[in-house]
Amino acid sequence: MKAESDKKDEFLITNIQRFSVNDGPGIRTTIFLKGCPLACAWCHNPESISPLQEFFFDEEKCVRCGACADACPADAIKPPLKRKFVKDFEVRPIISSTGSILDKIQDGTFGSEEITRSSASMASEEEMADEIAAPQFDRDKCIHCMQCVDACRYGALTAACRTTTVDEVYGEVLEDRKFYESSGGGMTISGGEPLMQPDVTRSLLKRAWQDQIHTALDTTGLAKWETIASILPYVNLVLFDIKSLDDRKHRKWTGVSNRLILENIRKIARAGTKIRLRCVIVHDVNYWDPEHARGIVEFAKTLGNAVVGIDIMPYHNFADKKYEKLGRKHFFKGFPNIFREDVEDYRELIQKNGPWNPTVGGLIGSNRQGDTFHETNLLNKVSSA
Ligand code: SF4
Ligand code: SF4
Repeated sequence: MKAESDKKDEFLITNIQRFSVNDGPGIRTTIFLKGCPLACAWCHNPESISPLQEFFFDEEKCVRCGACADACPADAIKPPLKRKFVKDFEVRPIISSTGSILDKIQDGTFGSEEITRSSASMASEEEMADEIAAPQFDRDKCIHCMQCVDACRYGALTAACRTTTVDEVYGEVLEDRKFYESSGGGMTISGGEPLMQPDVTRSLLKRAWQDQIHTALDTTGLAKWETIASILPYVNLVLFDIKSLDDRKHRKWTGVSNRLILENIRKIARAGTKIRLRCVIVHDVNYWDPEHARGIVEFAKTLGNAVVGIDIMPYHNFADKKYEKLGRKHFFKGFPNIFREDVEDYRELIQKNGPWNPTVGGLIGSNRQGDTFHETNLLNKVSSA
């Protein structure tokens, strides 16, 4: 059993990505902290938005045993339903189980006597079929206890995050130290928004800094300046997300104003910390919008020498499935990927109008044929290290 003091030091992460080549220079270990104050409509890590524990539900793996519903203390799960069908289309649900369906089937109490036949009265017995529908999760009632995940023995419910400590995470970071040294890489703290957990972020960055491991902070920039100022001394590079320079658009697509964000980036620049701007390109938001590209260049120039690079991050739809498994709607569901060649004009415009040679990240720098670019060299270094 863990001591209370250990629990106090625990926090939530959604992932630790080793051998990452998209989160700063070289080969890196990226830690994704859970919780974000923005709610970008295109977010590709939707499990990182809430600061609370969450679970994924994979309906294909569910055997309809009902154990999750039995385990839930908050009445947030409707147990699997037996439904009667006429051939290919559903007639109506005919029974709901208040406990484990498998138990009921086994002890013979799973009730054909409860079948309501009125709506199926037009169909003969041969034309009808039974199905057990998946459990239904009411996430508003959920108290995030994760007992359903523990109860599911079939891998249909899985945790979308894990609890950890600074010691544990930093131990993993150190495992790849030789790769950082051979590739010019290091550690990146990302999210969610790492500034929502400033103590954790500061501790991790400080340790790496003291061990002379390159550090990067991947941030939306939405935090009190005092918080940022207390962390900056341990940061080599800030990866700063620019969603939109237009405050009205920013509010519409992310739910928050960009005023504090832009104020903070100016202060970071004045503090002398290096910055890479990360510019997401998303359908309907800023794709294809030359004014946005020009705006990025003009804004970057106002930050003086602080901006060492600009990364263009085209939209990708890899997160569609994750939204589904979290029971959330995805505004951009079904929108196509934006590829490297789709943002070439955008890239050229930035290049021609400023001193930067922008990179295209996001979709791992791939084109429609699936060729990848700079990662190949880095991964060669991994194998020879
Ligand atoms: S989610 Fe898991 S526990 Fe719940 S009904 Fe499906 S298989 Fe059983
Ligand atoms: S995590 Fe939510 S749905 Fe699952 S058992 Fe706990 S309260 Fe119920």
